[in-house]
Amino acid sequence: MKILANDGIAPIGKQQLEAVGFTVVTETVPQHELIKTINNENYVALLVRSATTVRKDLIDACPNLKLIGRGGVGMDNIDVAYAKEKGLYVINTPASSSQSVAELVMAHLFGAVRFVYDANRQMPTNGATGFNTLKKKYAKGIELRGKTLGIIGFGRIGQVTASYALGCGMNVIFTDPFAEKATVNVKVGNQQVAIELSSISKDELLQNADFISLHVPKLDQPAIGNEEFAKMKDGVIIINAARGGVIDENALIAHLNSGKVAHAALDVFENEPTPSEDLLKHPKISLTPHIGAATLEAQDRIGEELAVQIISLLS
Ligand code: NAD
Repeated sequence: MKILANDGIAPIGKQQLEAVGFTVVTETVPQHELIKTINNENYVALLVRSATTVRKDLIDACPNLKLIGRGGVGMDNIDVAYAKEKGLYVINTPASSSQSVAELVMAHLFGAVRFVYDANRQMPTNGATGFNTLKKKYAKGIELRGKTLGIIGFGRIGQVTASYALGCGMNVIFTDPFAEKATVNVKVGNQQVAIELSSISKDELLQNADFISLHVPKLDQPAIGNEEFAKMKDGVIIINAARGGVIDENALIAHLNSGKVAHAALDVFENEPTPSEDLLKHPKISLTPHIGAATLEAQDRIGEELAVQIISLLS
């Protein structure tokens, strides 16, 4: 049985599948040629990450396809309900990348409060001639310890992000309509400290957070728009490593320009893979190209988790 891993799969996952007789092809077939290739090559499973989309037309046109696998969490690039209705297995790897995404959030947060992202842009061109000017420009850094991180969406990634922030000595508040309470395990050396947290209202979070990190699924409406920005503290820092569109991008730019929002960090964008130039060029935004799960450890876990599920469903 042949599997097309169109956005790649970690070698360990490929090896596990091949060890039980699957053929795994990792070449990337362009979206417009996918249907033809799947049918010509008789693929029974299509594995994707976020780049390849699997819509109704593909599902209808590929009758031999038995399984669609998403390496990662969000399934918004797959017509999941329709695929299941047609009898296909649809699987993902929800827990594999939580730690990596949380670490990227912390990287953006540390980078934002000390202007690391901007210094990295300025130093190559102005570092030799304007060293002291830049030094002065970045003299208003702040510390994370003691500040309040507000987390919107307290599922897997929200909770792991909380554990890192608590471990850094930050206060953590969260809002999640579906999680009233949560126990966050903070690793300190070889020990775990369990911290109990309770959900608060979104308004209370917006009013009290120094930094806000979003960890909700893609929603019908942005979780943060003009109305929410208006309720935040002046100088708030916002991070979105969830999904493009979870923040209203135009409203974000307006509030960065007005000074209401001090900085933003974005790993995800509307219109990926061609994000708005206004975001990409904005001096107050720290940017990464949707790499939350892009660590060797997360990719290995994703590959293994996919292999285990495929073997159990298709072997
Ligand atoms: P999860 O399902 O475990 O958690 C999502 C949480 O959001 C749930 O607890 C849910 O109750 C809560 N929620 C839903 N609607 C809400 C609302 N309106 N307000 C507040 N909370 C709400 O998902 P997860 O694994 O933690 O993933 C979170 C997000 O991160 C998803 O959007 C996912 O696609 C994204 N993600 C990004 C990357 C990346 O590379 N940047 C990698 C993996 C996942």
